Amino acid sequence: MPLETLGWADCLRNYTEPVWAVRHSDLERYSDESVYRSVCPRDDCEGLLLVARNSITGELVADDHCTLCAQRVKYLDIARMRRELR
Ligand SMILES: [Zn+2]
Repeated sequence: MPLETLGWADCLRNYTEPVWAVRHSDLERYSDESVYRSVCPRDDCEGLLLVARNSITGELVADDHCTLCAQRVKYLDIARMRRELR
């Protein structure tokens, strides 16, 4: 689906889709300068997965979602991410 046709209904649909289990290490980084940001794994999407931190502990959060299509993901390699990403 072309990005310009994505609307709120599409975002809501994706947000209620099953969570995708992904490895952060397998995703395409948004840029060479970003160790966190990934390109959304949906083929037709140019949105980003930003990786969140717990606002109290600062620990990286395993659950994330795309900034554009709202697809939710869970990082299977969150333990490695917490060790290696600062
Ligand atoms: Zn997306």
